[in-house]
Amino acid sequence: ALMLRAQDVSKRFTLHTQGGTSITALSDVSLDVERGECVVLAGPSGAGKSTFLRCLYGNYLATDGMIAIRDDSRAERHVQITGAEPHDVIALRRSAVGYVSQFLRVIPRVPTLALVAEPLISRGVDENEASERASALLARLNVPQRLWPLAPATFSGGEQQRVNIARGLIAGHPLLLLDEPTASLDAQNRDIVAELITEARRRGAAIVGIFHDEATRESVATRRLELSAPAASLIH
Ligand code: ADP
Ligand code: ADP
Repeated sequence: ALMLRAQDVSKRFTLHTQGGTSITALSDVSLDVERGECVVLAGPSGAGKSTFLRCLYGNYLATDGMIAIRDDSRAERHVQITGAEPHDVIALRRSAVGYVSQFLRVIPRVPTLALVAEPLISRGVDENEASERASALLARLNVPQRLWPLAPATFSGGEQQRVNIARGLIAGHPLLLLDEPTASLDAQNRDIVAELITEARRRGAAIVGIFHDEATRESVATRRLELSAPAASLIH
């Protein structure tokens, strides 16, 4: 089943601090992703990989083009996030889209175990089961049990990133958007994350991801989408 369709997506940023000149970060990118596929975004730094992922999440509004994401919880079966109301985007994320960024930008003050269990609880899983599944995933990701009652503020970069991954993967969303989830992990933990991604895909998730190391790309990708910076990132 088609999970994601992006057609001719472009994104321009207007730089208000520089007299309103604009920069084209992404130009006419199209992508269809079926359940069970993992599409790795490739291309040089500045090619627009992260911008594209943010457009898919509805975090950036595409300047042109169309993005639709399947949501079986809705009568019309999909949400066109280009043009959707914010509350529809939020509802879509809750039911269908998991997102993992490179960092925890805002360090939650919530205990780690509760933080990871929360996406399950908000989908109606009872607290005991949510807590058990969160424990199992944290253990799998080598987050030491002594850290589970603590908020991630004092954790190392790698530990925070593993908590972030656990939170993004736990709900089993049918679409996963991964923006360098392995950037500060050692090789052993990168392999564990790659395994978790492959398991999610085999369960039928559609995945679009950016990975900085070739070994992870090799191990998770079923397909690559090569992006190239739009002609000199066109500054108009
Ligand atoms: P990649 O992930 O492939 O390295 P990015 O998507 O981060 O590329 O960036 C693509 C281009 O868009 C870059 O030239 C970058 O400077 C620009 N860009 C990204 N985000 C913004 C923003 N919020 N404001 C202005 N320019 C941006
Ligand atoms: P920034 O735009 O400041 O670089 P991030 O890249 O960390 O911020 O996050 C981009 C957006 O994605 C934010 O608006 C945030 O709401 C959302 N986000 C980040 N991490 C997660 C997450 N683990 N789960 C859900 N949403 C997230």
